[in-house]
Amino acid sequence: MENAVLHVADVQKNFRGLKALSDIDLQVMEGTTHAIIGPNGAGKSTLLNVCIGRLPPDSGAVVFDGEVITGKKPHEINQMGIARVFQTPEIFPDLTLLQNVMVPAFAKRDGSFRLNPLQMVSAQAVIRDEAEHWLTDVGLKEHMHRTAGSLSRGDKRRLELAMALVQHPRLLLLDEPTAGMSRHDTNSTIDLLKKIKERGMTKVIIEHDMHVVFSLADRITVLAQGRIIADGAPDEVRANPKVREAYLGG
Ligand code: ADP
Ligand code: MG
Repeated sequence: MENAVLHVADVQKNFRGLKALSDIDLQVMEGTTHAIIGPNGAGKSTLLNVCIGRLPPDSGAVVFDGEVITGKKPHEINQMGIARVFQTPEIFPDLTLLQNVMVPAFAKRDGSFRLNPLQMVSAQAVIRDEAEHWLTDVGLKEHMHRTAGSLSRGDKRRLELAMALVQHPRLLLLDEPTAGMSRHDTNSTIDLLKKIKERGMTKVIIEHDMHVVFSLADRITVLAQGRIIADGAPDEVRANPKVREAYLGG
């Protein structure tokens, strides 16, 4: 039996009369890369924010590994094993790459993101080694003593990915990981995500770029105006007339 790592159960979310999410029910199966696509304003980021506890749903629930996580705080949900990479990279620009990756590694051990980053960087060898390992994996090791603020946009994404991976998450959520990237950076990010996929990590990827979606996803859910209009394997979704009309432009 396939196992659902994440179940978004009948979630609704309104913003002052605007139905941002209506009747959203979807399951993310263990080991899969599940893409959520849809035009701007479809509700993709809102859905992700509900999953990570940044926004409370008006009704419905989010179940992670069989446990209801609705109502928990973002850091508690993170501690349970959900890591995320945001649309706008959230890094510490004045710290080095190595220090940036050490922060979440410490937080994972200490059970909180509330420690002062400077306390965290008074590092232990084991955390440093782990951080170096992930920086190597995302192709940034040679830059590890540079400050993060000096990186290109594509490299900031890679850094953020290393910051998520160092936590060994059970579920990784990515909100438009290639947004604003050149074609070259997009392709190298796809390669990196494929490499992670080979290790069987479960991922939800929110994406606008069709090229990215169809080269990575095992399953695709299409949102439009806050509703699921299609859900299935990439080929089924690509052939669905409703999707072509709403999203691919007929
Ligand atoms: P997507 O990520 O698919 O582009 P969003 O989830 O960001 O879409 O937005 C869905 C809809 O909800 C949009 O119409 C957006 O303007 C609205 N919205 C998003 N966040 C808020 C908010 N905090 N307050 C009010 N409206 C919001
Ligand atoms: Mg968005």
